[in-house]
Amino acid sequence: MIYADNAATTRMSETAINTMVSLMQETYGNPSSLYFFGQKAKEVLEQAREDIAAAIGASPKEIFFTSGGSEADNQAILSAAELGKKAGKMHIVSTAFEHHAVLHTLEKLKKNGFEITLLDVHENGVILPEEAEAAIREDTCLVTIMYANNEIGTIQPIRRIGEICRKKGVLFHTDAVQAIGHIPVNVVDDNIDMLSASAHKFHGPKGVGFLYAKKGIRLTNLIEGGAQERGKRAGTENVPGIGAMAEALKEAVAGLDKNAADISAKRDKLIKGLKEIPHCALNGDAERRLPGNVNFCFEGIEGESLLLLLDDKGIQASSGSACTSGSLDPSHVLLAIGRVHDVAHGSLRLTISEETTDNDIECIIKSVKEVVEYLRGFSPVWRDLVSGKTPFIL
Ligand SMILES: *Cc1c(COP(=O)(O)O)cnc(C)c1O
Repeated sequence: MIYADNAATTRMSETAINTMVSLMQETYGNPSSLYFFGQKAKEVLEQAREDIAAAIGASPKEIFFTSGGSEADNQAILSAAELGKKAGKMHIVSTAFEHHAVLHTLEKLKKNGFEITLLDVHENGVILPEEAEAAIREDTCLVTIMYANNEIGTIQPIRRIGEICRKKGVLFHTDAVQAIGHIPVNVVDDNIDMLSASAHKFHGPKGVGFLYAKKGIRLTNLIEGGAQERGKRAGTENVPGIGAMAEALKEAVAGLDKNAADISAKRDKLIKGLKEIPHCALNGDAERRLPGNVNFCFEGIEGESLLLLLDDKGIQASSGSACTSGSLDPSHVLLAIGRVHDVAHGSLRLTISEETTDNDIECIIKSVKEVVEYLRGFSPVWRDLVSGKTPFIL
């Protein structure tokens, strides 16, 4: 088996698993309880908060634990919207290729009277800071732009955009779910006001994440109840999950430089191998991309059939994002970078990790070549392309 879908989720690290098990067995008190067991759990939470803050250059009071990246995105955007509304500012700037946790939240706000400007992400999947700057108006309350895209892996000029937002006095949120633990992120250097992260994208457990909100930003509650998370997120804390998330993040950050270099080298080898397939194209900039991300379109085939046949060969990959697979619409990200429907349908995302071996890379290249050729063998679309009935796009 070769697992090449690390953008969908990652395998938990041994350290994270051991931390989680030990916390479940031994530190089962409620952190809000005043007796010894409760206080032990509280210590775990506060240590995790410190470790996570340190990993991104924040202070512990700026970290709020959530159920994952989606919740953090929702809370960040809805908080900025609430603040904006009070100040009579109801315009938000974002991009067309955000995660649905961001896009659907923005759609909800639009129904409630907000105006949304979605920036062009261009053919290479990278937005231009000057276009972000030009989109900011007097009534803009928030700019929300993802750190790195989950489908095509492109890394955005976050530091520069943050700088522009600071200058203009507009709140800046980034969905950094794909970036944290994979590339260096520092909320101070990068001029970030709010940031979302999710543990299961950096070898931590599922169902836990965090929101960083710079000191002074008033958050809106999504969940009402007890006074946990300084009154901003009710509900008994997921102590084992949070403790394991902190361990996973420390591990990821400690190994980041080495892993990023190793994984990037494997990524480039994989890209080079797949490029030998006729009529294909890499999606997203070749350089400004996450270490583990490879995303291709192959003309004349269906991404879904490609996935199923790769699965038969023991290779787990994805076409588009896990959240939208099962629907027949092509990926909104590929459409945003200008791929036409037919081409976008023939997409394949392979996201590798430090666990991927050179052997795995060779095997993936060989298998994808075989499967693409096989599928094209009986594709009517491919036949029309080859016969010249319809022109090739790629
Ligand atoms: C996975 C992902 C999310 C959602 O995170 P969950 O913890 O699964 O809710 C949000 N944004 C991006 C970019 C992601 O990759």
